[in-house]
Amino acid sequence: MVVGIPKGLMYWKYGSTLEVFLKELGIQYIVSPDTSRDILDRGVNCCVDDACLPIKIFHGHVHWLKDRCDLIITPRIMKVEHREYICPKFCGLIEMLKNSIEGLPRLTEAPLNLVTRTDRLQWFMYLGKMLNCSKKEIVDAYRKAEEFYNSSEHGHEDRSFRHKVALMGHTYNVYDNYVNMNIKKKLNKLGIGVITEERVNKETIERKIKNLYKKPFWSFAKNSYGASVSLYEEGLVDGIIYISSFACGIDSIVIELIKEHIGDFPFMVLKIDEHTGEAGIDTRIEAFSDMLERRKLSENKCSKLG
Ligand code: SF4
Repeated sequence: MVVGIPKGLMYWKYGSTLEVFLKELGIQYIVSPDTSRDILDRGVNCCVDDACLPIKIFHGHVHWLKDRCDLIITPRIMKVEHREYICPKFCGLIEMLKNSIEGLPRLTEAPLNLVTRTDRLQWFMYLGKMLNCSKKEIVDAYRKAEEFYNSSEHGHEDRSFRHKVALMGHTYNVYDNYVNMNIKKKLNKLGIGVITEERVNKETIERKIKNLYKKPFWSFAKNSYGASVSLYEEGLVDGIIYISSFACGIDSIVIELIKEHIGDFPFMVLKIDEHTGEAGIDTRIEAFSDMLERRKLSENKCSKLG
């Protein structure tokens, strides 16, 4: 049996851990290639028009895998934190795929709750059973995967750049270089380092959220808001760049919450969909970089005068 792993959505957070699990079980697996024009076209052609870009891209990865494996891992992620939720598109993803792509092999359909170890193990038990593995093999492989995840570095932080910005947005937008058009590389070339939300600890995020009138019940929104506000308040960044999927409801709320809190602090939102052109993104990044530079010069001038 060959198992397929689509390189989209939460692959960017949990994909390597899943690979460790399969390797430990000795299962042959294939990961779809990096997102490309071909993957995007596949997704756009089969997915419903009004879905966001990451969902279309995920469809493209599944489409690429469908004739190359016997089972595709499509986690129906319901929750990542206690008493919080993630985007409903994750819950309905399997139905979307089944309705949009013909000739699919088997998909994993069980809900995946990532809150407690028992919840996670239950899902891995379900997957392992589909792969005809014994309970002991599954538990041992899960333990190895868990160790791998806990000992891995998460997120990214550049050092030694003239400027530093918080690079915010959903994991699958921040780390998929086709989607974000290699934004990190472009910023680095302009002398701007980045830091991502995983580098802000959970307790700090929870503290920042308490300032809001109501705690957001979407985990993604909570993390993006808490991390942005913390980095801004602690003076650890010169600006914030938020990569947002066109038509994403969660993004539209969190962006407004961040804006309201940071006032005139440099903040740029890059809206992306399948029609976004790279030239437009380049121009905006360069303009943002110029603004950071001017701001730094004027701050230096003021501090000398002061
Ligand atoms: S959170 Fe936004 S970008 Fe992510 S799947 Fe949902 S609608 Fe799409």
